[in-house]
Amino acid sequence: MSESLDLEPPPRLWHMSATCRFEVPMPLSSAEIASALAAIVGADAVISDTSKMSAWLNEPRKRFHKTAAAVVTPPSVEALQAVVRWANANRIGLIPQGGNTGLVGAQVPLFGTEVIVSLARLDRMRSVDTAAGVMTAEAGVILENAHKSAEAQGAMFPLWLASQGSARIGGVLSSNAGGVNVLAYGNARELTMGVEAVLADGRLYQGLNALKKDNTGYDLKDLLVGAEGTLGIITAATLKIFPLPEDHETALVNVASPEAALEVFQLMRQRLGSRLNAFELIPHIGLDFQLRHGMLDADPTASPSPGTR
Ligand SMILES: Cc1cc2nc3c(=O)[nH]c(=O)nc-3n(C[C@H](O)[C@H](O)[C@H](O)COP(=O)(O)OP(=O)(O)OC[C@H]3O[C@@H](n4cnc5c(N)ncnc54)[C@H](O)[C@@H]3O)c2cc1C
Repeated sequence: MSESLDLEPPPRLWHMSATCRFEVPMPLSSAEIASALAAIVGADAVISDTSKMSAWLNEPRKRFHKTAAAVVTPPSVEALQAVVRWANANRIGLIPQGGNTGLVGAQVPLFGTEVIVSLARLDRMRSVDTAAGVMTAEAGVILENAHKSAEAQGAMFPLWLASQGSARIGGVLSSNAGGVNVLAYGNARELTMGVEAVLADGRLYQGLNALKKDNTGYDLKDLLVGAEGTLGIITAATLKIFPLPEDHETALVNVASPEAALEVFQLMRQRLGSRLNAFELIPHIGLDFQLRHGMLDADPTASPSPGTR
């Protein structure tokens, strides 16, 4: 079923003499979308009952309240490509979703007619190569599991954030997440060497570069990282890993003002150089929240002891 749309050419923008004619498919109902998706990826990979979608629809702060036409969980890259190809042909909006921990609502529907594409089933660690300092993780790998895979080989992936038990590699890259070690290692973009992604027409962009000294061509991975799914759906990435440090020290220092914190920061940087890998200014209100909700037993700033670990 299709209807056509006649558009006049834009005035004097290009030298066009003919009228443009686009074929626009008739909008599909949610039931039609769900059954088309089930035919592509199998019924067990499609959730169409709204009452069963809450885990995908409710973002952490519950600020956005739209439903979805369906949730689909493709079991393979090929299945995802087929879903994207079909959605493109039928003009169905897709919202990629990883761990659903994003705080700006970009992983949930805006109109309620889109399909949420969960990457949760693409959760394989493809390789960890400590000699090359690279690991390859699929988009659905939970960040904490990526940490564990690196650590099992005596390496570390230095991107830590409070949502790491749920956030997934595809979401972390797509939001160019930072976390507590940005100071030393940069945001997700700086830790990414290459990306594999399904483009809007279903083609697979194979950019899993693992070569550090690569100066060829355009850096498409830098466009895909931080694009929040607008340029493609990330299916896997090559990520930088580093040798695990033998030891580390953490100090909690009470300061009277942000200016005083800056002085401490500069002093630490002078003394420690690149060994300083995290520095966070924590306002007391953050500790107050944790005390009030039982996440801390005692106020750690109440009786400061130098060298607190
Ligand atoms: C307690 C908490 C602490 C946090 N701390 C930090 C922090 O310190 N620093 C920081 O930067 N952020 C932080 N965040 C937010 C952070 O962006 C997310 O936690 C995380 O990076 C998103 O990963 P996710 O898998 O949950 O992605 P989602 O929330 O599922 O998605 C995030 C975005 O990426 C897109 N997306 C998801 N997967 C893909 C994919 N495979 N391909 C293309 N697009 C995709 C989504 O459409 C959406 O636009 C925190 C969040 C919480 C809840």
